[in-house]
Order: sequence, then structure tokens, then C-alpha cells
Amino acid sequence: LPEPGVVALTGADVAARLPRPGPESDKYRRGVVGVVAGSDRFTGAAVLAVGGAVRAGAGLVRFASSAEPVARVRARWPEAVTKVLAPGEGVGEVGRVQAWVLGPGMGTDEDAHALARSVLASDVPVLVDADGLTLVSQDRSLLRREAPTLLTPHTGELGRLLGVPSGEIEAARLRHARRAAEELGVTVLVKGSTTLVAEDGRPVRVNLTGTPWLATGGTGDVLAGIAGAFLAAGMTCYEAASCAAHVHGLAARMAAGGPGEGEAPIAALDVALELPAALRS
Ligand code: AMP
Ligand code: MG
Repeated sequence: LPEPGVVALTGADVAARLPRPGPESDKYRRGVVGVVAGSDRFTGAAVLAVGGAVRAGAGLVRFASSAEPVARVRARWPEAVTKVLAPGEGVGEVGRVQAWVLGPGMGTDEDAHALARSVLASDVPVLVDADGLTLVSQDRSLLRREAPTLLTPHTGELGRLLGVPSGEIEAARLRHARRAAEELGVTVLVKGSTTLVAEDGRPVRVNLTGTPWLATGGTGDVLAGIAGAFLAAGMTCYEAASCAAHVHGLAARMAAGGPGEGEAPIAALDVALELPAALRS
């Protein structure tokens, strides 16, 4: 590994940490994940985030958004329990969840801000991605909360969070990942050609699975859903983020057809669909 204080998980390390159902399991104990994503303009991100959570083994996925993304999610994932939110409405009526995924495609207008505030006011872990990260960059007070928070920025989003040009982030991702975790008091998963997971007082975990074919629209939304399912199953932000990155990269590699020259392009939904095979392996 390139640096002191940086560690990697092996496949065996991840397998030992993954949630598995037992005879005593029911869907609620396995983990209920709430997904707040999508908007009438962007519906695909919601389908992909819900798909990541469903295929990563959530006990139940609750999905709350405006009418159009709810219709799309219901059509693709009948397993999800959905709720149409009125403009400006929060998640108070959505039902109990053990973790939230907030942000993909949700937009950044005033209603989105109010919705993000209602999710972040909850007393369970929240993963914030995509538009949710933009909202948090504009209003850091959203992060003042008691329960754990996991942010999943790519370098551009991390730059906005820290107020640093993304070129500077690219040049020193490790340092900026550590700095974000420390300054914001959260766990940070930084996406890119490698994935880093930083939390204050812990070694940075680097993910060794994945493929450059992951550089395509929507794969980050699937990753958010996977990590959300793991959080809802009771994993910490640090463990959920690093295990999700590993499984996501493995599923992508399997969907692409294997390591090296044999690989072919993948779509984000392929990654979600490959998750059970990746988890089995
Ligand atoms: P997002 O930027 O939110 O769409 O997420 C993109 C996903 O693809 C993340 O999981 C990244 O780590 C991954 N990714 C992006 N570019 C590369 C690359 N060049 N090699 C490997 N993985 C990548
Ligand atoms: Mg993204």
C-alpha cells in the first residue's frame, strides 16, 4: 500500500463483515432502509439507488419522493414501499427506518432543502450523496446532528464541500478525505478511480476492487443504495462504506465480464443486478 495509515480489506475481510440472515431474522431486523432520491426531472437515480439497496439485501426499502420517481421505482422495484411526498413535505409520515440514503437526483431547490433537513433531523445514520451533498455544501448546519453521517462525494463534490478547487482534490485525495472527515465530523467515502473511506481516528481504507468501466452515469447511485442497506443492517458508517465499495467494485467487474482485457461496458443497472452473484462469491 502506498502510504502509512492506509489499509485495504481483502475479500475474506469483507465476507466476514457482511450481514447475513439467520433463522431468527425478519425483514425489520434485517434492516429497513429509507431512500429519499429523485425528482420529477431526474427519476433514474432513484431507481438505481433503490435497486442497490434491494439487491444488496435490505430487509425492506421505503422510498419517498415526488410522483414521477415514485411511479418509476414502483414499476422497476415492486418490493419497495413507496410514499409520494407533497412539495415541501418531510419524511415524518414515511415510517420507521434504520438508516436513510439521501440525495441522488433529488434536486437542490427550497423543497429539496426542507426535505434534506427533515431526513438529517432523524436519529438514525444518514448517507448523503449527490444533490444531498450540494445542499450540505450550501448549508453546513444540516450536518449538526447526533446520529452518524456518511458522505459519499466524488472529487468534484468533495471540492464543493471543502471549498477547494477539484484539481487540488485530485492531486491529494487522501489528504482531503482525511481533512473532510475531521472538519465535518463525519465518515467520508471519496469516489474516483480508487475509493477511499476516511473517519477521524481510523486508518483510511482504500478499495481494491472495481473497474474503469464504472466511470459511467448512475453507478454512484447504486453504491449509495448498497451502503444504505448495510447501514440499515447495523454496520457502522466506516464498515458499511468500505464493504459497499468492495462489493460494488466486485459486482461491476463481474458484470463487465472479468478482469483485464475481457471486460466490456456496463450500465449502472447491471451493477445492481450483479450484486447477488458478487455477494455469493
Ligand atoms: P458517481 O461519480 O457518483 O457517478 O460514482 C461513480 C462510481 O464509479 C464510483 O463508485 C467511482 O469510484 C467509480 N469510478 C469512477 N471512475 C472510475 C475509474 N476510472 N476507475 C474505477 N472506478 C471509477
Ligand atoms: Mg454521483
